[in-house]
Amino acid sequence: MTEQAQETNDPKRIDGKKSARRLLKGVKARVAACTERGVTPCLAVVLIGDNAASQVYVRNKERRAKKVGIATRDHRATGSTTEELLTVIRALNDDPEVDGILVQLPLPDNIDSDAILLEIAPDKDVDGFHPYNLGRLMIGRPRFVACTPQGCLHLLEEQGQSLAGKRALVVGRSTIVGKPVAHLLLQANATVTIAHSRTQNLAEEVARAEILVAAVGRAHCIKGEWIRPGALVIDVGINRLEDGSLTGDVEYEAARARASAITPVPGGVGPMTIACLLNNVVIAAERRAGLRDDA
Ligand code: NDP
Repeated sequence: MTEQAQETNDPKRIDGKKSARRLLKGVKARVAACTERGVTPCLAVVLIGDNAASQVYVRNKERRAKKVGIATRDHRATGSTTEELLTVIRALNDDPEVDGILVQLPLPDNIDSDAILLEIAPDKDVDGFHPYNLGRLMIGRPRFVACTPQGCLHLLEEQGQSLAGKRALVVGRSTIVGKPVAHLLLQANATVTIAHSRTQNLAEEVARAEILVAAVGRAHCIKGEWIRPGALVIDVGINRLEDGSLTGDVEYEAARARASAITPVPGGVGPMTIACLLNNVVIAAERRAGLRDDA
């Protein structure tokens, strides 16, 4: 266990495990409400190939799903072609008992990942990666929000400060993390800047930010001394060091000394991702059960 993970009583440490447990408790109650209406929330998980890390991720997702009463359908195969996988996705799209479809990434090189993700019906796209759902987020009417960005916002909102009018900096502009986080912050009325590899003076940008979300994937590329005093810091980065331990994009100890609150790595954003996935599955099931009409 890392030093960060041991500091359980640190008031500045944003405990993602605790927040995830809280969210999952609510999800479990909502699953029960669906089940009472005769709708058992169901997540279909598609795993192609034999990537060891993907197998672990899928196992964790399925285990967590079962714990809150969400049923799972497993499709596992090796050596599939794009066409075969498209057929599987179409069958899941048409299956009225499947609420959410998750295709574990990365797919093997021979498969056209974009074509597969495009084929998932937007109303079953619980990962929130379909261009339709990304577009809905951009126009300020989100339907399914990608899980890690959603987790970041939950953690920020739980800090009890309004995000409205705050200067927020998102470092990283990927489609699965940086850009959706920036749009969610914008929707929460923060004043948002996005930094990336071509940003000229990252230190200056960080020093202005009252809210910082780091989603780069480079260990400790955000220096603690750059952090604005009192800032809220969400570190999405997961980087493996030579000794095998995991660390974030932000220099934790030095940043913690200046920040009002900060997520550790591990134990910050990571645990929220699966909780938000299951949150999305139950949202889909609530729509099927007539418990939600947010078209
Ligand atoms: P990508 O590699 O897709 O994106 C990284 C972004 O960082 C790019 O926009 C890139 O800029 C930017 N960047 C690279 N170098 C710099 C730099 N020196 N200064 C400023 N910006 C820079 O990564 P992801 O978005 O997929 O993931 C980011 C991190 O989050 C990774 O560590 C990943 O493991 C982690 N992650 C964690 C999850 C969780 O559950 N906790 C889930 C998903 C991801 P440019 O666009 O110009 O290339």
